[in-house]
Amino acid sequence: MKFCSQCGAGVERRVPAGDSLPRYVCPQCGVIHYQNPNVVVGVIPQWQDKVLLCKRAIEPRHGLWTLPAGFLENDETTLQGAMRETLEEANARVELLDLHTLFNLPHVNQVYVMFRGNLLDTDFGPGEESLEVALYEEKDIPWGELAFPVIEQTLRLYFQDRKSGRFSIHTGDIIKLPGEGRRFETRMLPKK
Ligand SMILES: [Zn+2]
Repeated sequence: MKFCSQCGAGVERRVPAGDSLPRYVCPQCGVIHYQNPNVVVGVIPQWQDKVLLCKRAIEPRHGLWTLPAGFLENDETTLQGAMRETLEEANARVELLDLHTLFNLPHVNQVYVMFRGNLLDTDFGPGEESLEVALYEEKDIPWGELAFPVIEQTLRLYFQDRKSGRFSIHTGDIIKLPGEGRRFETRMLPKK
């Protein structure tokens, strides 16, 4: 950030009085511009023994598979956002069942909130941000071509729950390991 969105003056980066982190502060009007993580909401749309995946038509990770998910908008609940993203990316309508995973991704300042949902019909197709949309059984999931580690973890937990016959809510962190390349570690909050 270079300029104050309130008055247009150039901003400074400093720790405001009583705070502990550097912020963008406007020396002219005094506004402190806080920057906080974004919430990504999405769905595991299920149909019989299959789940719906979308092939990304946008960067990052163009051409790789993901679950319908995207940034929560202002004035929207997480459930509304998850259903909207499913409609936008896959032209699919879902009945949401329950929260499935909450993952913190501190390296990109995101929190992922993923729900389980039942597809209402199979009348779906790629939206603007998808090249292709398809239903996959567990054995056919393109595990090597998934766009993000958070999606892989979410799907693995989903199929694990389904085998056990009991769905529960999973919370964890996805940590990017230091160094070059895309290496991540998943740390789940232990179940009590
Ligand atoms: Zn200002």
